[in-house]
Amino acid sequence: MQLETQTSIREISLGIKKIHEDLRAKYSILSHQNIMGFLIFSLSIAAIFCSFIMWWNSIIPSWACIALIAFFTSFLHELEHDLIHELYFKKYPLIYQLMMFGVYVFRPLTLSPWYRKFWHHYHHQNSGTITDIEERGVSNGEKWSLLRLIIIPDLLLSFVLRYPRLSKEIKMAHQNGELKSEDFKQLKKTILFGMLPLGIPLYLMWYLYLGLSLLAYFGFDLYTAPMLTFCTPFVVGLIAPNLIRQFCLHFITSNMHYYGDIEKGNVIEQTQVLNAWWTIPFHLFCFNFGATHAIHHFVVNEPFYLRQLAAAKSHVIMRNYGVRFNDFGSFKRANRYH
Ligand SMILES: [Zn+2]
Ligand SMILES: [Zn+2]
Repeated sequence: MQLETQTSIREISLGIKKIHEDLRAKYSILSHQNIMGFLIFSLSIAAIFCSFIMWWNSIIPSWACIALIAFFTSFLHELEHDLIHELYFKKYPLIYQLMMFGVYVFRPLTLSPWYRKFWHHYHHQNSGTITDIEERGVSNGEKWSLLRLIIIPDLLLSFVLRYPRLSKEIKMAHQNGELKSEDFKQLKKTILFGMLPLGIPLYLMWYLYLGLSLLAYFGFDLYTAPMLTFCTPFVVGLIAPNLIRQFCLHFITSNMHYYGDIEKGNVIEQTQVLNAWWTIPFHLFCFNFGATHAIHHFVVNEPFYLRQLAAAKSHVIMRNYGVRFNDFGSFKRANRYH
């Protein structure tokens, strides 16, 4: 990496850190990180329960309940990411694990956080490479097609439909020394257990629900009604909100990370900032991820709400040093930087 690039990366990181420090000096509540994390955690879960109870009692329609829960689980996703970086209750393993459990139970259609922890740290080390399992898992680097559209929200289909091609690529990377043996072992373990105990059973319930709904549509409702009645609360309260949230998050994240042709360790090339007006509907369900995740690549150990508060000022520095903004050409280039 050129000296000039290294200097730019350092300047961006220092600049963003300074904005964070100024914010903490101005608002003392921001220094109480554990309390902030636990408050957001409890309020989000309370809001999810309220939405579900209102639907259960026919106060709000299904679509409203699904949209509300999708919105509140996006806070839990950000908390999960912060927990993966051990930003809350690091010295209190019991509370830490309780929070890890909470952010998993309400977002069960994704990798369990205990497995994701490994691959997320790996992502920071190997962003944009062939072995960046976390981002490749959500379609980063794929050409646009119907396949990419289908696999964006659905991690199980994403795995099943691409397994032959991806496993060949990863095995080759392992043979070339791009993926260490212990990491390869961890990947095998992740494939076997990463979507358990909740993910795979709930995806299967979702496919069953779709099949039964189709049968009911064609007049077989006498046979399908009891099973549909059983599945519906899971679909409205858990499955549909998370599929919508995952669609929005994975669409944004897989396109704001670059893939395949970036310089190793060059943080400026790893991501872009996506904050155009038309991304607002997606950002509503992923806590403004496209506007703030690039900041996280420069300054890792800060909580998501601080990153959000610092976003506008951080963007000025990032733009000055050449971080790309709203590079929609990346969609056509299968997320290649060049
Ligand atoms: Zn990233
Ligand atoms: Zn991270």
